[in-house]
Amino acid sequence: MRKRFYLLSLGCPKNTVDTEAMNGLLEEAGWRQVEQPDRADVLIVNTCGFIDAAREESYAALNELAQNKRPGQRLLAAGCLSQRYGEELRHVVPGVDGMLGTREWANVVSCAERLLGLQPGADVRPSDEVSVVTPMRRQAQGPSAYLKIADGCSAPCAFCAIPLIKGPQRSKPRAAILEEARQLVAQGVQEIILIAQDTTAYARDLGEKDAMPDVIESILKTVPQLPWLRLMYTYPQHVTPWLIETMAAHPQVCHYLDLPLQHAHPDTLRRMNRSPDVEGVRQLIDNLRQAMPDIALRTAFIVGYPGETEEEFTALLDLMTEMRFDKVGIFTYSPEEGTAAANLPHPVPREIAEDRYARAMELQRGISLVRNQLQVGRTLDVLVEGAEQGISVGRCYRDAPEIDGYVLMSGEWPVGQMIRARIEHAMEYDLEGLVLVGHHHAKD
Ligand code: SF4
Repeated sequence: MRKRFYLLSLGCPKNTVDTEAMNGLLEEAGWRQVEQPDRADVLIVNTCGFIDAAREESYAALNELAQNKRPGQRLLAAGCLSQRYGEELRHVVPGVDGMLGTREWANVVSCAERLLGLQPGADVRPSDEVSVVTPMRRQAQGPSAYLKIADGCSAPCAFCAIPLIKGPQRSKPRAAILEEARQLVAQGVQEIILIAQDTTAYARDLGEKDAMPDVIESILKTVPQLPWLRLMYTYPQHVTPWLIETMAAHPQVCHYLDLPLQHAHPDTLRRMNRSPDVEGVRQLIDNLRQAMPDIALRTAFIVGYPGETEEEFTALLDLMTEMRFDKVGIFTYSPEEGTAAANLPHPVPREIAEDRYARAMELQRGISLVRNQLQVGRTLDVLVEGAEQGISVGRCYRDAPEIDGYVLMSGEWPVGQMIRARIEHAMEYDLEGLVLVGHHHAKD
C-alpha cells in the first residue's frame, strides 16, 4: 500500500508539537513513518518562517527533497512558511505539490491522500481555519511532552510577526487540556511543558484574566503523580502574585521561568510597543526570588532594534548585570515583513548590532557560569534523556528541553527515569553530576 510518509520538523518547540500531532493523525489513519525520504510516498516538511535563518533552512530542506523526488513521490510543505509565503514558496521550490497552513495540520491525512490520488479533491491551499479544539493526538517521545494550551497571539509587540502568521490568541478549553495531560501521563511522560505564544495570557480570549494558577492546580489534581510541570513563555506584566504563589506552593511545578523581556530601556520598550515599566520588572524578579530562592530565570533580549542608542543598550547590559539571569537568549533584530517595526526610522547598522550582540553574550557567559557554579554541591533530581558509551545526559529543573543545558553523568542510567545526582562541576551551559547510587540501579 502506498501510505508511507517522511516527516521533517524545523523551527521552534512550538512547531514540534504540531509535527507530533500530524504524526499521530497519520499513524492513526494507517500511514507508516519512514526514516529515509526515498522510501516515502509523501514527504512532509513542517516549515518555520519566523526569522530569516529559519526561512532559509526551510527553503533549503524543501529544495533538497524536491530535487531528489522519485517519480510518484509528493512533497507537502506545512507550517508557518506555507501560511505566510505561499506564493513565493511555490516559486522558489517548484517541486512542492501541496501546502498546508499553520492552522490546517489537522487536515494532514486528507491532504496527503489527495496528493496520492487516494481521495478526490483539489489542491490544498493555506486558509485561516482554526481548529484548536481538535484533540491533539500526540505521540509521547521521550520523557517530556509539550502541551500547547493556546495558539496565536493578541499582543501588539511591534517587531513580531507571530500575530500576523498565527492570528489572535485562541485558548484551548480547560477540559481538553486536562484530557491531554491525562493521556500524556498514561503514556509515561514525566514532564509536561505548558506552551503558548504567551502562556500567561491563557483564556484572556475567553474573558478570563489570571487563569494560569487555576490551570496549574487543575492539572496537578488530574495527574497528581506527574513529577514535573513546567511553564514556558510568560509575559512579565502578566505574572501575578497568585501565579507566583501557586508555583511556589506545589513541588511538582519546576522553579523555572522563561520571562522574555526583549529590552531594558523604557524608550526602546515603548518603540517595541511593550510595557516600559522596567521598575515593575525589577520588583517582579525580586518577588519571584523571594518566593522561590532556587528559581532559575531565563529571559530573551533583542539588540539593534531601530533607534537603539548606545545609552539604551548600556541600560540593557546594566540590567543583565544587576539581575543575574541564569540563562539569556540574545537576538539581533531583523525586520519582519508586515510588522510595525519594519517601518521604524533609524535602523541600527549591522556591524553595530553584531557588536552589541557579542558584548551582551560575553557578559552573560560569565554570569551563567557563576550561576551554574552556585549549583555545585546541591543534590538535584535529574530526568535522564539519553545514555551512551558510559555517559548519561539528563536535565534538572533548571533546564528546559532544547533550549537550556544538561546534567552530564557517568554511567548509563535508564532513559526516562528521575535519578538523584550531586552536582560536582559547572560549565557555562552544562553541569556535571555524580549519581547517588542506592537510590536507583544502573542499566545492566
Ligand atoms: S513577541 Fe510574543 S507576546 Fe509579543 S506579539 Fe510576538 S508572540 Fe505575542
